[in-house]
Amino acid sequence: MPRGFGFDVVSRSSRSKARLGLLRTAHGVVETPAIVPVATQGAIKALPWEPVKAAGTQLVISNTLHLHLRPGAAVVKKHGGLHAFTGWDRPIFTDSGGYQVFSLGFGKEMGTGKVAKDGTAAVAAGAKPKGLKITEKGVEFRSYLDGSRLFIGPEESMATQRDLGADVVFAFDECPPPNADRAYMETSMARTHRWARRCRDFRLAPHQALYGVVQGGGFKDLRKQSARELAAMGFDGFGIGGEFGASTRAMTAMLAATVAELPDDKPRHLLGIGHPKDIIPVIKSGVDTFDCTVPTHYARHGVAFVPSGRLDLMKAKFLSDKKPIDPKCECATCKAHSRAYLCHLFRSREINALSLVTQHNLHYFNRTVAEARELIKKGLL
Ligand SMILES: [Zn+2]
Repeated sequence: MPRGFGFDVVSRSSRSKARLGLLRTAHGVVETPAIVPVATQGAIKALPWEPVKAAGTQLVISNTLHLHLRPGAAVVKKHGGLHAFTGWDRPIFTDSGGYQVFSLGFGKEMGTGKVAKDGTAAVAAGAKPKGLKITEKGVEFRSYLDGSRLFIGPEESMATQRDLGADVVFAFDECPPPNADRAYMETSMARTHRWARRCRDFRLAPHQALYGVVQGGGFKDLRKQSARELAAMGFDGFGIGGEFGASTRAMTAMLAATVAELPDDKPRHLLGIGHPKDIIPVIKSGVDTFDCTVPTHYARHGVAFVPSGRLDLMKAKFLSDKKPIDPKCECATCKAHSRAYLCHLFRSREINALSLVTQHNLHYFNRTVAEARELIKKGLL
C-alpha cells in the first residue's frame, strides 16, 4: 500500500450503490463522493487556489500529456513535484496521458472527442488513425505544440507521473474511438490490460497510488471482463474510462455492470463525465470520484449553473437582472454581484468575468455533490 494512502467506505445507501467514503492520501483526506475539477496545466483556468478552495474543492486532476509537453516533468520534478510547484497542497490526481494522445488521433480525425457524433462510420479492427502509430510498446504521435514526433508507452507515462508526484496516478490505456466496432475494442482492451500489467510493475514514488483503467466501450460483457481482469491485478483503485453510449440510461447500465465486478473496498474514479445531469446517476452507480471540465469550461463561455438549469450571461436580457446568479448560493460571486454586472463584464470582455463565474460554478458543483453526501448519510439517495 502506498505511504499515507487508504480508502474506507463509511456507509452505504440501501436505495442504490451510492456510498460514503474517506480517501486518504499523503496530502489530505477527501470525503467521497467527490467531484474532481480539472487543472489541466496545473491550474484551474482563471482562478487562483484560494477561491478554488473556498468553493469547496477537495482535490484536482492534472493532465500528464500537457505537463509532459510543457514545461516537462523534469522541470516540475526540479521544483519538488506538482504540489510544491503549483502551491496546491491538497490531493492531486494525474491522468495517464492516454486520452489526450488518442483524442489527437481518432478524435481529431473523426471530429469526435469522447462521444461519437451521429453519422460517423464505425471504426473497424485494424483501422489506423492518421498521425498516431499504436504498437505493443506504446504510441507514436506528433506534438500539438511544434509537430515533433513523440512516443509514450506505459513506462513513459509512469515515469512522467512519478516525476509529477501526484497522489493518485492512472495506468496508461488506449482510449478507443467511441465508434469502434467489437473486434477493434477486443484487440484494444487486451493491449490495455497488457499495458496495465507493465504499469503495475513500475516503481512509483512511495506515496503514489496507482489506479487501473477499465475499458470495453459500449459492450457490457467486455466492460465486465475488463473490470475482472484489472481487479485481479491488484491495483490501489480503479478508473473507468472511455465511452458508454450517448444517454444517461446507457451510461448508468454500463457503470452498474462494471462496478459490480470491481472490489468493494477499493476506490473508483469515473474519467471525464460530461453533464451536470449525470452527477447523481453516477454517484448512485457507486462511483466515488469523477472529474469534470464542465463547471470551469462553461464558466469561461458565460454559462452559470443554477438549480433550474443554466444561465447564458452573455445574453443582453440579464443587463436588467438585479438578482445574483443563484439567490441561494453562498459563493463570493453571488454574495457580491448581480447577473446584470456579470453580463456587462462578459459583454465588455473583462477577464474578471471568467474568474467570477468559474468560482460560482465550482461552488455549485461542489455543493451539489456535498448535498448528495448528506442524502446518502440520511439514506435518501
Ligand atoms: Zn454562487
